[in-house]
Amino acid sequence: MEHTLAVIKPEALEEHRDEIVRTIQEGGFVISQMDEKALSREMAEEFYKEHRGKPFFDPLVDYMSQSSSLMMILSKENAVEEWRNIMGPTDPEVAKEIAPESLRARFARNILQNALHGSSNQSQAMEKIQFVFGDITIG
Ligand code: ATP
Ligand code: ADP
Ligand code: MG
Repeated sequence: MEHTLAVIKPEALEEHRDEIVRTIQEGGFVISQMDEKALSREMAEEFYKEHRGKPFFDPLVDYMSQSSSLMMILSKENAVEEWRNIMGPTDPEVAKEIAPESLRARFARNILQNALHGSSNQSQAMEKIQFVFGDITIG
């Protein structure tokens, strides 16, 4: 069983929480851990440290620390890739073209406020799960 970190970002949590959680469950994922919390600016900077120096880094940190997000560990065979597929591409305009059923095609406002996060590989998944949930045993 593989694990990934999924985050319902602030604006999507306020507006689309139930539909997103339903899609996760219908996708066959087990939600192994769940925690609703607001990231501090410092935590948001650390969470997205790979993007430090990019033009969208400051807006990204503002966005991710504005209010609560829903942090989840999703568990399933091939969870990392499957969750990325269900989310769709980073930019919702691309998502609407190539993956119209994806969550970002349905719920993202724009490339910054794009509703969801999903780890991009297994190593990132382990690192970000530990960052959010600490040293836990899953399952
Ligand atoms: P995430 O890491 O949140 O799952 P992602 O892997 O699809 O998203 P990244 O390239 O890691 O995208 O970018 C992280 C986040 O930064 C994006 O989800 C988006 O919110 C924001 N972002 C990325 N690129 C841009 C950009 N060019 N302009 C504005 N915001 C961006
Ligand atoms: P993903 O979220 O698909 O893994 P990235 O890791 O590349 O994408 O980016 C992380 C987050 O940064 C994105 O989810 C999105 O919120 C934001 N982002 C990415 N690219 C842009 C962009 N060009 N403009 C604004 N925000 C962006
Ligand atoms: Mg990313």
